[in-house]
Amino acid sequence: MNDEDDIKIAALIVAAGRGLRAGGDLPKQYRMLGGRRVLTRTLDAFAAHPKIEHILVVIHPDDLDLYESAVSHAPAKLLPHTIGGANRAESVLKGLGALNADQATHVLIHDAARPFVSAATINAVIDGLTTNDAAAAAIPATDSMRMADSAGEFVQPVSRENVYRMQTPQGFRLRQIREILTSAEAAGRLADLTDDVSAAQAAGLTVGVAKGDPSNIKLTTAEDFEMAEALLNTPSKIRVGTGFDVHAFAEGDHVTLCGVSIPHSKGLSGHSDADVGLHALTDALLGAIASGDIGQHFPPTDPQWAGADSAIFLEHAMKLVRDAGYEISNLDITLICERPKIGPHAATMRARVAKICAIDIEAVSVKATTTERLGFCGREEGIAAQAAVSLIG
Ligand code: MG
Repeated sequence: MNDEDDIKIAALIVAAGRGLRAGGDLPKQYRMLGGRRVLTRTLDAFAAHPKIEHILVVIHPDDLDLYESAVSHAPAKLLPHTIGGANRAESVLKGLGALNADQATHVLIHDAARPFVSAATINAVIDGLTTNDAAAAAIPATDSMRMADSAGEFVQPVSRENVYRMQTPQGFRLRQIREILTSAEAAGRLADLTDDVSAAQAAGLTVGVAKGDPSNIKLTTAEDFEMAEALLNTPSKIRVGTGFDVHAFAEGDHVTLCGVSIPHSKGLSGHSDADVGLHALTDALLGAIASGDIGQHFPPTDPQWAGADSAIFLEHAMKLVRDAGYEISNLDITLICERPKIGPHAATMRARVAKICAIDIEAVSVKATTTERLGFCGREEGIAAQAAVSLIG
């Protein structure tokens, strides 16, 4: 890995396991953790890393809907998914087979159930590839080690010197690891391979130790999830914001609500696209981080916002939220009008808002109410919206 220009690194996330040991009826990589799916957190860790060019996820064929939900925010760098095989090694090989040399010279293979992988750990594995054929994240064993016999009684101690607990990511040259696993498949040995490092060593590759991180835990049991929730919650700061907006009806043939255009006998008047739903939400986000309101950031006197897609305002507010160190825990929008009917469009609106905010659709609520024909909404003079958000940081 000498010529920096020729290095292209892809992350291969292995998410094809059933992983039901953690309890519940969802494979563990799709369980919610701190308001987001485990796989979503894992993906975003790699998407945010500047040296990762592509991400490919290997999934189980039964999990398509769950997968779509986990990637509904369209993470950067994500390639189309690959369906896995009967065991982990087969799934890895299928993923490797879906990557081509234009996309990657090297690949970091990572367990979907390790959502806390840090940029430092990813860097350590990439650095390890400069001096070895392969490199794997690991941490030195700190507890004392002892063998036990089949009766469950301790026998001799094991020196913990130079003993490591293996983690992922594990990094390889794409061509080499693919050849090794392809040969193992041809020899009928794929099912015996529990670990890519062992396969690489058996083929004569050197595998370097890369400094892992104790927090890069693999979520396996219900207790692991409890600990992970506690880890996430310990330092968390919670912010809440609300927003409210009104636009009057005017001549027109459609309204834009929560990013969705709905045919209607009237339009909404406003400087931008007059999307009351997104305006209320934008104000709620700005309010939660005490950063003013939508009018201060996007003055209605500024001609550049004439007819603007309000997604621009929402994206800007989301950037400020993330810059301030927060993520959305959940948001809830209420549209207040007699007509048009919101119900048939609510699911599309949720998906659109989730996409603009780059969050899971499960964190997004869009609902509607009338005012029993009372007041300006009841007289169909305009549409109002209110929004509430909670942020965790
Ligand atoms: Mg407005």
